[in-house]
Amino acid sequence: MNTFAQLYGGPSEGEWAAPGRVNLIGEHTDYNLGFVLPIALPQTVRAEAARRTDGLLRLWSAQGGELVALRVEDLAPGSVPGWAGYPAGVAWALREAGHQVGGADLRLDSDVPSGAGLSSSAALECVVAAAYNDLYGLGLPAAELAVLAQRAENAFVGVPCGIMDQMASMCCHPGAALFLDSRDLSMRQVPVDLAGAGLALLVLDTRVKHDLGDGAYAALRAGCERAAALLGLPALRSLQPSGLDDALARLPSELVPLVRHVVTENARVEAAVARLDAGDPAALGPILTAGHASLRDDYRVSCPETDLAVEAALAAGAHGARMTGGGFGGSVIALVDADAAEHVAAEVTAAFRTAGYAEPRTLTAVPAEGARRLR
Ligand code: ADP
Ligand code: MG
Repeated sequence: MNTFAQLYGGPSEGEWAAPGRVNLIGEHTDYNLGFVLPIALPQTVRAEAARRTDGLLRLWSAQGGELVALRVEDLAPGSVPGWAGYPAGVAWALREAGHQVGGADLRLDSDVPSGAGLSSSAALECVVAAAYNDLYGLGLPAAELAVLAQRAENAFVGVPCGIMDQMASMCCHPGAALFLDSRDLSMRQVPVDLAGAGLALLVLDTRVKHDLGDGAYAALRAGCERAAALLGLPALRSLQPSGLDDALARLPSELVPLVRHVVTENARVEAAVARLDAGDPAALGPILTAGHASLRDDYRVSCPETDLAVEAALAAGAHGARMTGGGFGGSVIALVDADAAEHVAAEVTAAFRTAGYAEPRTLTAVPAEGARRLR
């Protein structure tokens, strides 16, 4: 066994956990400084950790293979290949921000599916940020740790993600969705009582991740930034639905569907929050389905597998369904009657089998707690 003591020859000082997430609605809006509405999953990355005084950062993950040893003062963007780049990037980002942190021994383990659009990468960063924050007595608030975790992924690993995933993993509350304004990181916990309404949220992991995703994400981001610049706006968030038609008439045709998605998606987040505030979570269904159509037809980040999962879930009686996460594969969420969850999952699985796709992995998402210390 690879217990902490067996790996590192002594006890850990504590254990922390940070969850994966699913986003209810608000996709590709965070980097446009708009709204998102994620929930944290019960699935977490856990870290047992202890400080070291010699400046070494040693990392081992049950999902990672060999133990990795690095010198914190030598950490530089792009210098750490593979999975260890995420935790190392957090130590780097903390030091870059002027925090006096040194080495540590970390033992990681996770039940967040990796590469499934459920943000295992953010969970990994956030659990390390939470552990460092406590071990070194930094006292940083959760939102600040989320920003540093995002910086680790953007600048150290080199993935240009927005702020949603790290904020969800750090700041979500159990039983609630996080209504986050990506412009100023103001947030509100919006109660989501699915069980009380006889509902369940199915997560259908398509288990595909199409390679074009990485380059496409950067190109979409650049397209949004160009559109905002042409419209004289700081970000597409500033464009209101009432001004959309005028704005679209002033843009080159290739940017029109991108802008339409972002503006209508922000409005869908606000509509979803209003329905949740009114205690009517079933009314999220059509909003989710409209969001999927916008991602498929306007933003063009869906793929045959996610489209099929959405269609099969709707045909099996789901109130609504959409891809969640960046797209080009990953997971689909479906809002279903609790007593129909197994039926919907079985129907989607059957549709995948008929299409010759690998069977999707299914979980039920219950809004869970953000990053925390376990002991
Ligand atoms: P997602 O965030 O949607 O799961 P990403 O491609 O952004 O997908 O992140 C997945 C990567 O994060 C993995 O390839 C691996 O490098 C890293 N990772 C996530 N969880 C773990 C873990 N428990 N142990 C080691 N590496 C992990
Ligand atoms: Mg990720």
